[in-house]
Amino acid sequence: MTIETAAKYETVIGLEVHAQLKTRSKIFCNSATEFGQEHNSQICPVCTGNPGVLPVLNRKVVEYAILTGLALNCEIAKFSKFDRKHYFYPDLPKNIQISQYDMPICKNGYMLVGGKKIRINRIHMEEDAGKLVHAGSAGIAGSAYSLVDYNRTGVPLLEIVSEPDISSAEEARAYMEQLRNIVRYLGVCDGNLEEGSLRCDANISIRPVNQQELGTKVEIKNLNSFRALQRAIEYEIERQIEEVEEGGKIIQETRLWKDDQGITISMRTKEESHDYRYFPEPDIVPLEIDANWVHRIRETLPELPEEKRVRYTKKLGLSEYDAGVIVDSIDIARFFDKTAGLTKNPKASANWLTGDITAYLKDSKKSIDDTGLTPESLAEMIELIDKGTISNAIAKKVVVSLMEKGGSAQKIVDEQGLSVISDEGEITSIVKKIIKANPQEVEKYKAGKTQVIGFLVGQVMKETRGKANPGLVNKLFKKELDS
Ligand SMILES: [Zn+2]
Repeated sequence: MTIETAAKYETVIGLEVHAQLKTRSKIFCNSATEFGQEHNSQICPVCTGNPGVLPVLNRKVVEYAILTGLALNCEIAKFSKFDRKHYFYPDLPKNIQISQYDMPICKNGYMLVGGKKIRINRIHMEEDAGKLVHAGSAGIAGSAYSLVDYNRTGVPLLEIVSEPDISSAEEARAYMEQLRNIVRYLGVCDGNLEEGSLRCDANISIRPVNQQELGTKVEIKNLNSFRALQRAIEYEIERQIEEVEEGGKIIQETRLWKDDQGITISMRTKEESHDYRYFPEPDIVPLEIDANWVHRIRETLPELPEEKRVRYTKKLGLSEYDAGVIVDSIDIARFFDKTAGLTKNPKASANWLTGDITAYLKDSKKSIDDTGLTPESLAEMIELIDKGTISNAIAKKVVVSLMEKGGSAQKIVDEQGLSVISDEGEITSIVKKIIKANPQEVEKYKAGKTQVIGFLVGQVMKETRGKANPGLVNKLFKKELDS
């Protein structure tokens, strides 16, 4: 497709995100919610929909929904209720899903993504379905039969629905990344796309530039990584434009992203909400949400990623890049905040965290909390550098040692004799030795090629394994050679 063709259309994207809440028990019963347990070991008559049972709402779910709503600038409903959504799936034993239809708990919020306001239409609470495990072998057709695991049935979900304010694949990805960061900061969801604790469906349509009316939207499912989300949207925009350019029509449908092939395929035509025959859930009393309760929850709101980023750049003087890298990982941000409280030089701790430490974590596939490094030992190491006790080159080794073995920076420096040598007498004798060993370079220097001093200083550093004070070495060379 040519750039000219693409430029004739604009893209309209809305995202529906399901966030699995990190409560210990399910939304309507006390079965456990732990991931990866033995099949059907975390179930009870309520979540398996036995006759005569009654659901009891988990208070923590409501609290997490309110907390998330506040973080996303939503209005919290004073009055909210649950509804039954009907559909038949083997992994949905009641044949209904308890969800919220016309009176969700949160409405009319927004999130700023790169300075642009993406409105949040609503956030509602609902229960998750179970999982089918395809088993046996039936040749190329796949499995011979399916088993059902109800452990996930009734695990609480928040569905966070944006308005169609997103206008590109990159923006959709940025929105999703930021949303994941927020739920992680709030501690309501672990935000793991691969394990399915954060799931995203994208509604995508195109329309000619300047047309007010929205085009027909297509929903894409199975976007289980940020990369998949971005690629699927890019593919879908192109598919829709080509379809329209060739005189075809976009059908309202649900499509599945095939990551290995890099395409979307038609799955089913999209249901309208009346197909679900929603009606009020008769077994759960409507929720009246007390303003005082909302107020108390608001008081527990942590500092959110965007606020942190502003504080880091404006108050602590970090670069946009450093602030961005730190804020992107809640573990690193927590670590940085503690370190910054212990050192006079927060910029240096940011540099270490975004540089050598992040590189080490990537290589070793560890999180910072799995290493031996602590905010105390990092702050101590920075102080040793600032006092001139160790050089930056030595500190690079110390920080790795701290991550691998833990302990204190001072102790490592003492034990391994890593302090900078600033003793004039000691360095002078090494300088003299190097001069003696390199008569040709000395001659060049005396002939005016003063840049050879770099080589000579390097020899001293080699001799002292990086510990000589480089400024002093330079000064002493000049003193010896110019005299
Ligand atoms: Zn249960």
